Amino acid sequence: MVTQPLVDSYGRVHRDLRISVTDRCNHRCVYCMPAEGMAWLPRSEVLTFEEIERVAGVLVGRFGIDGIRLTGGEPTLRAHLPVLVAKLAALGTDLSLTTNGSTLRTIADDLATAGLARINVSCDSLRRDRFTTLTRRDELPRVLEGIDAAVAAGLAPVKLNVVVMRGVNDDEVVDFAAFGRERGVTVRFIEFMPLDADGAWAAHRVVPAAEIVAAVDAAFPLVPVARGHEPATRWRYRDGAGEIGVIGSVTEPFCASCDRIRLTADGKLRACLFATDETDLRHLLRAGADDAELAAAIAGTVAAKGPGHQIGQPAFIRPGRSMSQIGG
Ligand code: SAM
Ligand code: SF4
Repeated sequence: MVTQPLVDSYGRVHRDLRISVTDRCNHRCVYCMPAEGMAWLPRSEVLTFEEIERVAGVLVGRFGIDGIRLTGGEPTLRAHLPVLVAKLAALGTDLSLTTNGSTLRTIADDLATAGLARINVSCDSLRRDRFTTLTRRDELPRVLEGIDAAVAAGLAPVKLNVVVMRGVNDDEVVDFAAFGRERGVTVRFIEFMPLDADGAWAAHRVVPAAEIVAAVDAAFPLVPVARGHEPATRWRYRDGAGEIGVIGSVTEPFCASCDRIRLTADGKLRACLFATDETDLRHLLRAGADDAELAAAIAGTVAAKGPGHQIGQPAFIRPGRSMSQIGG
């Protein structure tokens, strides 16, 4: 079948799909979830592997989606995840996963064998006490073992996602850069976004991308790398010891070139991380919609996508879901 581009009214072509496979999580990161957790979706409301495969198949087959990232909640909590990975790997896209890393030491090999290509592990402090405060779980050693397991399993590249927050972990930027250089992993620093469940985000907590780059550059000189479609600006170390990425979602929004769509664990299609509306694909799937009907709903959702977020401006509206419910 000839594919048609998934294009919005601003001419942006969408090629990248993020699938949240569960809303559940074993961590409670302060920038993402309240301490007491959230009310989890009942099992019946979560898309089955077959339903996820069906939506992904339509997106790849009809619209030429060429990248799929599995996320959550914590995706590795979904039972039999390698089975889903194998189904999606068969679609032939660039298949990746974002995880908190806590279970990777036991599952990394199975994920790689099933066809996962690469992985991002989230870790916001290399200090055990601080990690525990940030995630509300004392699991830094397990996460570090998980990173090693991912490298050993041949998942490449392994990237480390670090949300940088003023007065919280901004003093570890250079430590993270040094860690990435030593372990051969690419560190991706992420600006703190207003998607925390507690509404604790404040502009003064955002450490601008430019400041992060300057801090790393002062310790380990950097050279810019040409930017592709990805949201991260990339920099390589002048001495050849790898690279970093910086995602300046707040101070350097990349909405004008955004090519992402998101499928939530309960089957809602979102054209933007900050969208305030979404399309219920689960309802269509369970009502017996055929592929053409699914495709029409998907195309309509993307066509209606707005120009971008307006964080920091009076017109900004916080989406009703937290990051853990959307998938990052
Ligand atoms: N549980 C997995 C994990 O932590 O990697 C996957 C889901 S998590 C929501 C996906 C990514 O979103 C993580 O890298 C996390 O650090 C990031 N994230 C969560 N809340 C955020 C926020 N308020 N601002 C910026 N990034 C955030
Ligand atoms: Fe869980 Fe990931 Fe959110 Fe942390 S960032 S609470 S690990 S979903």
